[in-house]
Amino acid sequence: MAIFSRYTQTIFIDGTWQDAKSGKTLPVQNPATLEAITEVPHGDERDAEQAVRAARQAFPHWSGKTARERSHLLYAAYEKMKEQKEELAAILTTEQGKPLKEARAEIDSAASYFLWYAEEANRLYGEIIPSSNKHKRLMVIPQPIGVVAAITPWNFPASMITRKLAPALAAGCTVVLKPAPETPLTAYRIVKILEEVGIPPGVVNLVTGGAVSIGKCWMSHPDVRLITFTGSTEVGRLLMKGSADQVKKLSLELGGHAPVIVFEDADLDLAAELTLASKFRNCGQTCICANRVYVQQTVWDAFVEKLTAKVQQLSIGSGLDEATDIGPLINEEAVRKVQDHLDDAVQKGASVLYGGKRWKDSYPGYFFEPTVLANVTKEMKVMNEETFGPLLPLQSFSEEAEVIREANDTPYGLAAYIFTDSLHRAYRVMEKLEYGIVGINDVFPAVAEAPFGGVKQSGLGKEGGKEGIFEFVELKYVSMGIQ
Ligand code: ADP
Repeated sequence: MAIFSRYTQTIFIDGTWQDAKSGKTLPVQNPATLEAITEVPHGDERDAEQAVRAARQAFPHWSGKTARERSHLLYAAYEKMKEQKEELAAILTTEQGKPLKEARAEIDSAASYFLWYAEEANRLYGEIIPSSNKHKRLMVIPQPIGVVAAITPWNFPASMITRKLAPALAAGCTVVLKPAPETPLTAYRIVKILEEVGIPPGVVNLVTGGAVSIGKCWMSHPDVRLITFTGSTEVGRLLMKGSADQVKKLSLELGGHAPVIVFEDADLDLAAELTLASKFRNCGQTCICANRVYVQQTVWDAFVEKLTAKVQQLSIGSGLDEATDIGPLINEEAVRKVQDHLDDAVQKGASVLYGGKRWKDSYPGYFFEPTVLANVTKEMKVMNEETFGPLLPLQSFSEEAEVIREANDTPYGLAAYIFTDSLHRAYRVMEKLEYGIVGINDVFPAVAEAPFGGVKQSGLGKEGGKEGIFEFVELKYVSMGIQ
């Protein structure tokens, strides 16, 4: 595609697009065709350190602007992103693989964070506390935390960036950003949009390249006051440990292992449609997607029949083809993980109701058939680990208390879903689920206006909503004596 025909300088520091100090580059690949799309600079700790310096220098000026001024720039970024939606979606699909219709939806969602935080910038209120001493006045003032390091994943290359950048910028923070090596081009275009709308030099800096060297620099740099990260629990843990010496604040969106529970009183058509949508969106590569499905015994046959009928209609192919429902996985390792979970389940007695193998009909890339498994048990990897692929394991249950116990029996706690038409059951079960997000007859909870985040080993802090901006501020308490 013409948009990728030239080498792209994706390191942006202090308002200047530049090559990596190493002089090295990283290839970017189309996961459907396995073609090399382009190359981007392979930055390291030297670029990472220069980026922090630029962000530190830009901080007084940016945080000194009025909230209204920052809001205007964020609103302009929202509008520009909407204008460039088609081009952005094509870039996203080409490097990430998801179907174009999903890429367009992601660009809309990504832009909505700029809109929401353009609004929230103006409502970052402090507090006056009624004092118990009549000679004192007490107040709480939110102030931007300082330089923020944002590290983002490849599964939502646009919205995971704006969900961090928009509240950070709204609060008055400056940012150093490292996107996933698989999807630097979407990041590049988002930062380009921020440059075009007039975000001052140094306020947003982008470094592509080596995760370990860049991460190490930011974890140990005293000027980085917050690390905001979305990715695996393993890397999240590493960032916590690496930031401990400096007692840095962390905001972490980590892995999930979402249960879907279909009760006998549910609308089964809706439950089948939404379970499918949740499981196969982005080829199963979302941290809140259905990872395991529990179906009440009494409706097992009816539900399984409806679900498998729908799965058979899914069309696999390149995301750039408008008819595609299921694109490729991100890389060979992802394919291996799906195959490993599948083999483990089959070996322990699961039966394959549909799919079950790698797909290479029209493209050489990292495709895997949408696969439905029955006779699944608790001992299988699919019921204990995040698969991050198009594998849908079904297990039956009979009692409400039993399924709640199973659903909670995991170190993860990001999202859980229940399908029921009983108001009593909906409320009762929702309260007992140890998850940061619960969808009731709904599987698309991630929106700019609501707080997204996990409990247990799924993360710390919230993104989105009025809560999301508070990750990026310190609350200063002021006690003033008066006569
Ligand atoms: P995934 O397994 O989905 O790729 P990761 O947690 O490995 O998730 O990656 C998420 C982000 O974290 C990416 O931008 C990746 O480059 C980055 N990352 C991976 N390892 C490290 C590390 N040691 N330090 C800092 N960032 C890292």
